[in-house]
Parts: sequence; C-alpha cells; structure tokens
Amino acid sequence: MNENINNHNDILNGTPASPGIAIGSVFIIHDELHVPRYSISEWTVKSEIERFNLAAEQVKTKLSEISVQLVNNLYQNGAGIFQAHLMILEDRVFIDRIRHAIESNLSNAEAAVLDVGEEFLHVFSQSDDLYLRDKAVDIRDIVKHLISSLTGRERLDLSELKEEVIVVAHDLTPSDTVLMRKDRIIAFATDVGSRISHTAILARSLGIPAAVGLGAITAQLKTGDLIILDGTHGKAILHPNEENIRNYQLEQEKFRAFAESLHRLKELPVITLDGHVKKLSANIEFPDEIYAVKRHGAQGIGLYRTEYFYVGRDNLPSEDELFEDYKEVAQQIAPEAVIIRTLDLGGDKFASYLGISHAVGSMMGLRAIRLCLKYQDIFLPQLRAILRASVYGNIKIMFPMISGIEELRQAKKVLGKAKQQLTDDGVPFDPKMEVGAMIEIPSAAMTADILAKEVDFFSIGTNDLIQYSLAADRANEEIAELFEPFHPAVLRFIQHVINVAHGNGIGVGLCGEMAGDPVFTMLLLGMGLDEFSMSPQVIPEIKRIIRAITLKEAQELTREIMTLSTAWEIEQRVYEEAQKRLPELLDWGQ
Ligand code: PEP
Ligand code: MG
Repeated sequence: MNENINNHNDILNGTPASPGIAIGSVFIIHDELHVPRYSISEWTVKSEIERFNLAAEQVKTKLSEISVQLVNNLYQNGAGIFQAHLMILEDRVFIDRIRHAIESNLSNAEAAVLDVGEEFLHVFSQSDDLYLRDKAVDIRDIVKHLISSLTGRERLDLSELKEEVIVVAHDLTPSDTVLMRKDRIIAFATDVGSRISHTAILARSLGIPAAVGLGAITAQLKTGDLIILDGTHGKAILHPNEENIRNYQLEQEKFRAFAESLHRLKELPVITLDGHVKKLSANIEFPDEIYAVKRHGAQGIGLYRTEYFYVGRDNLPSEDELFEDYKEVAQQIAPEAVIIRTLDLGGDKFASYLGISHAVGSMMGLRAIRLCLKYQDIFLPQLRAILRASVYGNIKIMFPMISGIEELRQAKKVLGKAKQQLTDDGVPFDPKMEVGAMIEIPSAAMTADILAKEVDFFSIGTNDLIQYSLAADRANEEIAELFEPFHPAVLRFIQHVINVAHGNGIGVGLCGEMAGDPVFTMLLLGMGLDEFSMSPQVIPEIKRIIRAITLKEAQELTREIMTLSTAWEIEQRVYEEAQKRLPELLDWGQ
C-alpha cells in the first residue's frame, strides 16, 4: 500500500507484534523514569531548588486530595497507600538529600530526584525487613509523581480510560498493564520491544493489533493525535490523511473477512489430511481471557501464566484469592485441562514489593522456580491453592525454568509438603494431578531423558529456550537479530526433547510464541509435537494449516530442514513452503 501520500510522510517501521489494523487517537504513556539530564550553573541552584520545592508541594496537595476522597468513599486501604506516600514527602532526609544533590552535583531537579530515589530504592530493597522492602514501592511511586510534576507530564490513570485509544509507550511492563481498562484499548505501539515482549504477547492475547520497536514513536506524538497502526506489517502511520484512512479502512475490512473465515473452523477437529489428531490449547495470562479461549475453540489451556496476581499491587495475594481464581478457571474449562504454571517472577516480570532488584532477578538470576524455592512462603500458598482447586476440574501443574533433576525434585518436594499439609487439615485435592516440567533451559533439554522419568509431561518454552541456547536476551532490542528461532541449535533442542519425551512414553507440548506462528507449524508437526499452546486467537490459523497438510509431508520437510546448516537457509525453505500452501496466512496471520 502506498502510504507516502500522507502529508507529513510520517511512517514508522517496527516489528509486527499482533496482526490487524487500528485507526484511532493515541494515548501516550510517558515513562517518567526517562528524564532530561543536564547541568545547572551555580547561580541557578536556588531557582532549581525552588522548582523542586514547588513540585513537591504540588504532589503533596494532589495526594492529600486523593487520600481525602478515598476516605470519604470509605476506601481506607487505598487511602493508606497515599498517606504512606505523603509521609515520604515529609521525610526530611529524603527531601534534603534531593536539595543537596541539586546543589552539590549541579544537577537539574529531575535528575536529582531520580538519583536520590534510586539510592533509597537500593537501600530499601536490599533490606531483610519486609516492611522496608515494601516501602521501596512507595519510593518508586513518589519519584514518578515528582518527575511528572517537574516535567509537567500528567500521569494518567489507565484504569479510567473513557474512550477507545491506541496506547503508545516506550515499553509496557506487566505492572503497567494490569490496571488498564483493556476493553478501551484498540492497539498498542511501542518504541522498543520484540515479538515476544510483554506488549506483544498481551496484544495477541487480547486480539488487538500491535507494532513494537517503532523507534521514537512516543517522542513524535501527543495524546489525542490520530494514527493508523498496522500490526500485520509492524507500521505506524502518523497524522494520516483522508486517503490513507480510506485505504486502511479497506484493509481493515479484508482483515475482518479473513478473521471471519478462520472463525468458521472453530468446531472442526484438529486433524491432518492423513488422519493424525493434534491438540491446540491456549496460553492465558488473565482469567478474563477464558472468553477468548472458548471463542476460538481451544482444547483447554496449555499455559496459564500466573504472574498477574503478583504484579501491580502492594502485597502478596492470599492463598484463598489464588484458590478462587484457579477454581473458576478450572470449572470454566472442564472437562478440558488447564496447565497452571507456577510463579515465574523475575526476568521481565516483577513484583517490586518483593524487594528483588532487576539485577538479582534478571533473566539469568533469581527467577521463576529459583525464586520460589528460595522463598517458600510465597511458593507454598500457590501450590496449596492449585491443589485445592484441582478437585473442581482438570488441573495440571508445571514448573518453569527447571534446569535439572535436583531442582525438579526440590519443587516436587515442596508440592509434597503442600499435599501433606492439606491432608493433615482434611482439605481435598486431586492426588493424581499431573506434574510437568517446562523445558526452557538447555541443561534441561540435554537431560530430558532423566527428567522424563519423574514427570507426566513436558512443555517446551521456546521464548526462553531460544534466549538461553543462543545467549541472546529476549528483551534486548539491540540484539534482536541474534534471537533466532530458526537457528539449527534451537530446532535440534526441540527435536531432541520431543524424541526423548516419546521414548519415555510422556506427552510433549510447546507453549512459546513459536507454537502460534504459522511459519513453524509444519516443522513442529513434522517433529512430532503433540500439543501446540498459543494465544487463543491464533488457534484457527494453526488449525487451518494442520488440516491442510499430511503428517507425512510435514515429516519430509522437517527431515530436509534438519540437514540445513544456517538459520537463513532454514527460514527461506520454511517460508517457501508456507507461501506455496497458505499465502493468505502469511499476508494476514501472526
Ligand atoms: C517460554 O519461555 O517460552 C514461555 C512460554 O514462558 P514465558 O514467555 O512466560 O517465559
Ligand atoms: Mg519461559
């Protein structure tokens, strides 16, 4: 399509993250932690401190008003949070330290707030005292408020979106999105990110278009500006003219017709032309996605990511709260299975009140099962909640980031402890609940034969398996091209794990983004994968491919692919095959 005709010729190219087209006004989320940084002269120190004082007063007034409103509405807990923020603003040590930083470092006020905030955050989050660790969240919030006030950028509350908007941000984290009114969001566009960053996964799960890695889109727009977001091709057209809009409306129509044709496959079985039946299940992150799971005809849930209960709030969820949620999901999906993955915090998913810094909980740090084994007071209630819910449907459990048999045994031991506690308390659970391991670390893939003897199933997490086998951080845009799903090493790992699982008589699924990417379907089918778990709305596309080929031809292609030496050759060959068979899926699909 020729978009160059728009007046400003503002087309940003990024990475397609979720297909479809949205035309609408943007809502910008500024990342307050990106602040201007400059030196001030000695004679402007006084006025800079004044500027800071004024900002602090404004924040105080605003927080007091919110707090009074909440008390009037009898929402005491919420008011407590804002009162805690106010106390920090009244803390002389914190405030004086910022004034001192302006004066002694000749820093602008925004930079001084950020630096002192970081210092306090570091001290608080390293503390052994849970109360002080909790305070770290308050400090972070106060820093954001102060910076918004200094930069004049209003912090807008996404839980109160009134109109439909395209959310534009530098990047979105789970805590940014947990409170969003998702029914008001028609697309996402971000400066950074990859196909497997949080924004991309969330967009696909909500079934809305998204483009990520668009460069400086936040800097080029303001809230209320009109854009066209083409998630299929990863583009944003800023300030479109009427002709652009007309053209894209036509594309939107075509996309809808395509989506409609796929929807008609909903009730049909997942079976190859030569009669081999496969399972297509859904990945979900929120319980309210169950609607999408059913709408797209998923055969159960192959991955329930459970982190959302732990982020975007000030404290840990209670066991009962978790139990109610898992029970609801199990009941809704029964008789199909729900695979609940135990907590995978760390990496790109953080709960700041746990006081684990990004460095400690990095991709290769204290993440997922490692964190759970270290903090059993977090792990046990989740396991108990899953077990308690298991009598209400068909629940299976799986552990993320297993690196080897010792870790698996430790995790199973804690599960055994949870079972024992429930037995002692006379609380029912399904004693036969299946236990699986995610295979997402090369050491687990290479010892799959050992692990297979002690679990009921495997689920391959390719998002992580790719990053760890290629040493390419999945969230680092700078090395996005090194994150190469077509790398022969990645494909060999997958093939090996599938062979070993089958050799040991257990089933194997794949729940990384690869499972929902039409380009890989034939290959994974040929490798012998049993279950593909993906964002619910891609299920019809994958079903269409599986129904259009024979297992035999998929196996032939896979055999050929496994002899190729480079990712490039593999990619070319796989695309060629996909293009030949289902060209419209490549044009419109994921
Ligand atoms: C994976 O790593 O492939 C996976 C499914 O888990 P997550 O993306 O949540 O790490
Ligand atoms: Mg993972």
